[in-house]
Amino acid sequence: MQARQVVLISLIVCFILPIACAVDVVINPVPSPNGAVLLIVDGFGSCYFYPEFVPHDLDGNELMRGEANNIMLIADGGVRVLDITAPQPRTALGHSVLVTGYSHADPLLVGFDDATIFDATRKHNYLCIGVMQKGDFESLRAKQDGILFDSSNSIKTPTAKLEVNAQVPADVIELMQEWQNDLPSYLDGKEGVERYTAYNRWGIDASDAIARYMCDNHPDRKFLLTVNVGAVDLAGHHMGPERYIELIGELDEDVCNLYLTCLENNLALIITADHGMAFAMTEKGRYVGGHASDKYAGAVESQRIPLIVSSPNIRIGVIDGTYGQEDVAPTLLSILDVPEALQYSDGDIIPVKKYANLRVIAESPIKITLQNNDATLYSITDEDVTFVGLTLGNYTVSTGRRTMSVNLRSDQVIEIETSSYDRTVLAAMMISMIMVGGGLTIRRIMRED
Ligand SMILES: [Zn+2]
Repeated sequence: MQARQVVLISLIVCFILPIACAVDVVINPVPSPNGAVLLIVDGFGSCYFYPEFVPHDLDGNELMRGEANNIMLIADGGVRVLDITAPQPRTALGHSVLVTGYSHADPLLVGFDDATIFDATRKHNYLCIGVMQKGDFESLRAKQDGILFDSSNSIKTPTAKLEVNAQVPADVIELMQEWQNDLPSYLDGKEGVERYTAYNRWGIDASDAIARYMCDNHPDRKFLLTVNVGAVDLAGHHMGPERYIELIGELDEDVCNLYLTCLENNLALIITADHGMAFAMTEKGRYVGGHASDKYAGAVESQRIPLIVSSPNIRIGVIDGTYGQEDVAPTLLSILDVPEALQYSDGDIIPVKKYANLRVIAESPIKITLQNNDATLYSITDEDVTFVGLTLGNYTVSTGRRTMSVNLRSDQVIEIETSSYDRTVLAAMMISMIMVGGGLTIRRIMRED
């Protein structure tokens, strides 16, 4: 009797929740990470530490470069995207782009259903946690299960707050509360660069402690930890280029433990920024930093951001080509092997992964055959199948009488449309238009009516 109930419940769940019926066909086992830490360093311009770039002020005078040796070592063991720019180099907008994958995103869009990486990962039972000093606007906080944030956005009188919006394990909340209470002790008696450094250090140390605790005590719970540290940006605005790069050097020291935690626990670490920073000399002979106003926003120093990824499933090296901040969100989902589309994204997956997954979605069950070099890899009758762990290259997908070629460089979705009144005739017309589907390239196969 109980077994019957279980079967019945499963069927009901299948009808109500399409995701419950999605089938994964593992062609090759994949080394997916157990979760991810998304480290957003506010105002961290790649012009100031990528070896290929030389920073200039708005008058064209060369500026000093920062030392980020540890971060570059992380990049050497992972993947570094060379040319990636923020389309809207402002804090709230940059964070909105980073989490939605849409180049014109704003905080309003972040609040929409299925708009963000948090909505996508939560469908796969991820816990979404935040530790954010800046970029923590209301709609972004609401997408976190729990978030520790600085409600003041002021380094003089920071106020750490904890917001819990969904079920977070009680012991994790307790740990976050401890870190909330620890902020004053990090800053006590410190001024100037030392205070700025300590502010960032608290954010990194809290994130490291939470990530390590999750791995040690909740090893089966995947999580996405979003971190923003704010003092590099603040130093740029208030203290000039020398202090700005000094803060980069200090952060570079502090990030090592967080990296090791990720490495030891099979977590992806994604280091990026909401925007960069530009400097202009005033008439008084003093540098002032900015990135958002018209004066600064057009500078390459304001727009260029880093993207460095450490993860067990990526290809090591530097990626050339031109990319945008909107590509970060779909790339993050690809790294996590979360085959979800972001509803409003116009970003592309940057090909950082060693393999690709191919998801085929139909409106009703259909025979789907995957071939490689004329050899059939798998054949299945279903309506939502993800072929996992495919070697990059060319494939053929057949649905009934029709086939289509797929050049797989990163994760893709093929969506098969069926006529509502003729579900027995298979497609005669194929449109291989590439749809922007929130990172996953969606190809549409039309059925002939
Ligand atoms: Zn910012």
